[in-house]
Amino acid sequence: MRHMPVKRIEAMGKVYFVKAAKSDGKSEIIKKIEGLLEASDCFDFIKKGDIVAVKVTFGEKGNEYYVGPEYVKVVLNKIKKLGGKPFLTDANVLYKGERTNAVDHLNLAREHGFLRCDVPVIIADGLFSKNYKKIAIDKKHFKTVNIARDVVDSDCIVSISHFKGHMQTGFGAALKNIGMGLASRSGKQMQHSHVKPEVRENKCVLCKQCFDICPVSAISEKNGKAFIDKERCIGCAECVATCKFFAIAITWEESAEILQEKMVEHAFGALKNKKDKAVFMNFALEISKECDCWNLENPIIAKDVGIFLSNDPVAVDKAAADKVVKQEVNDVFKKAHPDTNWHRQLEYGASLGLGKLDYKLVEV
Ligand code: SF4
Ligand code: SF4
Repeated sequence: MRHMPVKRIEAMGKVYFVKAAKSDGKSEIIKKIEGLLEASDCFDFIKKGDIVAVKVTFGEKGNEYYVGPEYVKVVLNKIKKLGGKPFLTDANVLYKGERTNAVDHLNLAREHGFLRCDVPVIIADGLFSKNYKKIAIDKKHFKTVNIARDVVDSDCIVSISHFKGHMQTGFGAALKNIGMGLASRSGKQMQHSHVKPEVRENKCVLCKQCFDICPVSAISEKNGKAFIDKERCIGCAECVATCKFFAIAITWEESAEILQEKMVEHAFGALKNKKDKAVFMNFALEISKECDCWNLENPIIAKDVGIFLSNDPVAVDKAAADKVVKQEVNDVFKKAHPDTNWHRQLEYGASLGLGKLDYKLVEV
């Protein structure tokens, strides 16, 4: 038998994996998660008294594919056993829905059973997504990124994501859970567009909240409505995130590759003060064509694979994507979204030093 040289193994991300399928049933899947957590050393960085942000998605009305509270609870128990103090968290979304502000968001978390997990639930960017920190990153697209403050201020992060397809990122998993998921609403808008915003006059009630928030005073009153001076506007998206009347149009026209790079830059910002203090889990079960926020038709595009666990967000995503493609003998993500190159998020993440494209899979 040929042995891999020690240096080569060290240069790879280590990814733990357990086969699992929805057909196993919930109690068997719970046992498998417990076995996976027991077999790995991925959570060993958690020290007694650490405040641990557990980033999940609480689902969306009409979409059932998020990682359920019964599985999340197993991870919370592991953190508590190590002496950590976990809280469940997410940040508000950009689009109009059940997770646009913290009150609706918490109500949805309660409806989906997450308040029964026996830990606090905190929407990390606050009531209207104003509770964020600007993190200096100095990368290709952004000098700074806006990350939900309560996660930045926590000691450690545990990312739990449903591995699924996505229109603009090909697939969505750990990098997306952190990069898009923990950006403030203004950060999410900046990932989705480089276009300067415009006011929809028919929706503007002239409440002037956007006037106060604009950092360069680019918004003023014109004909009884808000007006944006595009010469002055720096495209920070704060007004888009602020307007409760959706009178400043959300724009979504960023190309798939650039969006992935911007998302990864936000992940870099979110993880900047969490070096060696982060762990990532991907649940590759019920692998749907679209994201967990999608509430329209969302077919399953691949058979269940299992659960992946690593301290490396690039390796954990690459391992899950590779396993799905290998099992299906088909690039199902490319087939579902032909214009999207899903490799870009991984390559860019590796180029920023977030993790490794090479990985060693340890099957439990
Ligand atoms: S926040 Fe919205 S409704 Fe209020 S003035 Fe600005 S654009 Fe108009
Ligand atoms: S995008 Fe930023 S700079 Fe431009 S008008 Fe809105 S708040 Fe002001």
